[in-house]
Amino acid sequence: MKYEVDKPHYQPRTIIGVDLGVSKLATASALSKDAVSKVNFFDGSELRFKRKCYKRSLSEWQSNGNDAMVRRSKGKISNLSTYLNHCISKEIVSLAEQYPNPVIVMESLKGIRERIKYSKRMNAELHSWSFAQLQSFIEYKAMEKGIRVEYVNAKNTSRMCSNCGHTHKSNRKDQTHFKCSECGYEANSDFNASVNIAKVFREGAPT
Ligand SMILES: [Zn+2]
Repeated sequence: MKYEVDKPHYQPRTIIGVDLGVSKLATASALSKDAVSKVNFFDGSELRFKRKCYKRSLSEWQSNGNDAMVRRSKGKISNLSTYLNHCISKEIVSLAEQYPNPVIVMESLKGIRERIKYSKRMNAELHSWSFAQLQSFIEYKAMEKGIRVEYVNAKNTSRMCSNCGHTHKSNRKDQTHFKCSECGYEANSDFNASVNIAKVFREGAPT
C-alpha cells in the first residue's frame, strides 16, 4: 500500500479528517495525538436537515444582500446540494475552529471518483460534482478563518482498520458497519474512514 502525501512543513495539533460518502454526505472526526475527540455526521438523506439548511442559507443571503443567490434559489428547493454543501462546510470549519492549530484533511477527488465508480447505488457523476463543490466550499470558508486544508490520495481508507491498520475488504461488513477481522475493532464505517484519512495525513507529517 502506498500513500502519496506531501510532507507539510508545519506541525498541526489537531487533524480534522473528513470522509465524504453516500449514506452520510460527510463524516468529520478530530484527531489529537492518539485520541479521537469528536465526530460529527452530516446526513444528506434527512429531509429535516435539508430544509433547515435551505432556510438558513436563504436568510443568510437575504441579510447579506446577496440578491443573486436569493434569486437563483427561488423555486429551486428540489436542487438542494448547494444548500447542503453550504451548511456542511460551515459546520466542518466551525468544528475545526474549536481546536488548537487545526488542519482539515480530505481525500482527493480523484480517489473519491475511483471509489464511487463501482457503487451502483447512486449517480456517480452527480456525486462527483457535489463533492467537488463541498470541497471548494470548505476550502474558502477555512481560508477565511486561516485554517489549512490538505488532501491525501489514500486508497483503502474504507477497508483499513483505524485501530490496528489491518487492511482487507472483509473488514467492511456493509455500508454502515466496519468490523476488523484482525483485532475485532467495530465502528461506524464512515467514522472509521475519517480517522484513517487523518492518520494517513499524520504519517506523512514530520514527527
Ligand atoms: Zn484492527
